[in-house]
Amino acid sequence: MIEGLQRKKVVVVGAGWAGLGATYHLAKQGYDVTLLEAGPYPGGLVAGWKTAGGRSVEAGIHGFWYPYRNIFSLVNELEINPFTTWTRSSQYSPAGLEVESPIFQDCPRLPTPLGTFLYTRFKRLPLIDRLSALPLLYAVVDFDNSDEAWRRYDSVTARELFKQFGVSARLYRESFEAMLLVGLFAPGEQCSAAATIGMLYFFILAHQADFDVVWCRGTVGEKIFRPWVEQIEKAGGKLLANKRVTDLIVDSTNRATAVVCNGNEVIDADAVIFAVGITGMKKIVANSSSLQAREEFRNVNNLGAIDVLATRLWFDRKIQIPLPSNACFGFDTTTGWTFFDLNALHDEYKDEQGTVVEADFYHANQFLPLDNKEIIPIVQQYLTTCIPAFRGAKVIDSSVIRLPQAVSHFAPGSYRNMLPAKTSFENVFMSGDWIINRHGSWSQEKAYVTGLEAANLVISQLKEGKPANILPVEADEAHIQVGREINKAVRQIGKSILPNFWLP
Ligand SMILES: Cc1cc2nc3c(=O)[nH]c(=O)nc-3n(C[C@H](O)[C@H](O)[C@H](O)COP(=O)(O)OP(=O)(O)OC[C@H]3O[C@@H](n4cnc5c(N)ncnc54)[C@H](O)[C@@H]3O)c2cc1C
Repeated sequence: MIEGLQRKKVVVVGAGWAGLGATYHLAKQGYDVTLLEAGPYPGGLVAGWKTAGGRSVEAGIHGFWYPYRNIFSLVNELEINPFTTWTRSSQYSPAGLEVESPIFQDCPRLPTPLGTFLYTRFKRLPLIDRLSALPLLYAVVDFDNSDEAWRRYDSVTARELFKQFGVSARLYRESFEAMLLVGLFAPGEQCSAAATIGMLYFFILAHQADFDVVWCRGTVGEKIFRPWVEQIEKAGGKLLANKRVTDLIVDSTNRATAVVCNGNEVIDADAVIFAVGITGMKKIVANSSSLQAREEFRNVNNLGAIDVLATRLWFDRKIQIPLPSNACFGFDTTTGWTFFDLNALHDEYKDEQGTVVEADFYHANQFLPLDNKEIIPIVQQYLTTCIPAFRGAKVIDSSVIRLPQAVSHFAPGSYRNMLPAKTSFENVFMSGDWIINRHGSWSQEKAYVTGLEAANLVISQLKEGKPANILPVEADEAHIQVGREINKAVRQIGKSILPNFWLP
């Protein structure tokens, strides 16, 4: 613990997974931490709240996959029990049920990617199409998440990558692009090949069990963030809501000394951690002359984010939904969507008379301008296509949440403009799911890990307290490690003969 008056002040901006993670660790180390959140409550993209009628809603349902080791470890530390058991998922297209996934950790373990390939139950996709994925294994081995690998693959689109490696048109449309729309929230021609391989490796390919997933038994806000914020406050951290940071004050020695909130409130700091999304960061830069003076922050304007739509529908009757979580493709060419049986997942809806379904749409640009009255029948029609029993059911209540420019867009060529945790200010650090790091995780787990990494950078800068213990992703399987070593050696030979001749 750092004693009384000497406590160093850290300001964290943004109360999503990244900001809460940084705040919690630094508060436990005795820092005087203030977490400033622009919105009315913490959670960021994972926030949940109650409707006027007292029903729980949230900004989209969030899964927690098997490799989310740091989040699972946090949940253990908080001594809370927010999750369902491991659940199975299905995939639907307008033609009906396409795929069912088992619980992979219950199947005999095979070297990756054999388990994923053999245990996933494809209902329609012919074997020949599935086999056309095999050459992609080279890209999986070649992309080792290093800076060099990102630079090699980032300017290529996912679609080009799959085309170059001979993936069949049907496998691309019905499997890979379908996964991109729900994993990177964009169609293949708008996704970086580097992000594509990194994301698929983390969630599906690295180890057989990686695709196993749990869900919160209520909103993440209620089940995780509420007890977490209580612990943060107990540790001495301050969470201030409705505080929008608009500027950073710096002195002549390259150090930030304060942030400005809501245009005029100055909050002193010995170190600052930004934990806001891309759109939030662009807004701060647009308002801040000290940030605009730095090229790295001006370059954030080259990044983009993606529109998402989260809907929740209450139906008048019980409808049998075979599996609780479902991903869908082929309904709109540039939009993916998922639906969840909340009677099965959420405690609150277990005994509900009717059915409660969450349907979330990613890359939902064309839906956002529609009226709620237009959106709800579209959702019901899509649900009916997957599960005919939805036809004729009456929607008795609904919630529609629009999230414009909300999720990070890993567009081709975006890597060079993304920021690492260390900035050119010696006491300003970055965190969030779009920040460059080498951990290998994605989404919520990455956001939380980057928060801990930023906290550790503060600790090494201000020289107080112990760094957080960050669990690495599980090591690559032996055959992948061998493949990577051989590939690296061959690349080195190639480079020594013709350095910098070919495009990376
Ligand atoms: C519909 C949907 C479904 C998703 N599904 C999954 C899933 O199943 N699994 C998964 O792991 N991930 C999922 N994600 C992604 C996941 O939500 C994000 O990766 C993660 O929440 C990012 O956390 P973060 O802390 O980086 O940023 P955010 O959650 O965006 O938090 C940033 C915070 O900063 C605040 N802020 C912005 N500007 C300012 C300012 N100027 N001053 C103060 N505060 C500011 C914002 O209000 C926000 O609270 C999903 C996202 C969406 C939208």
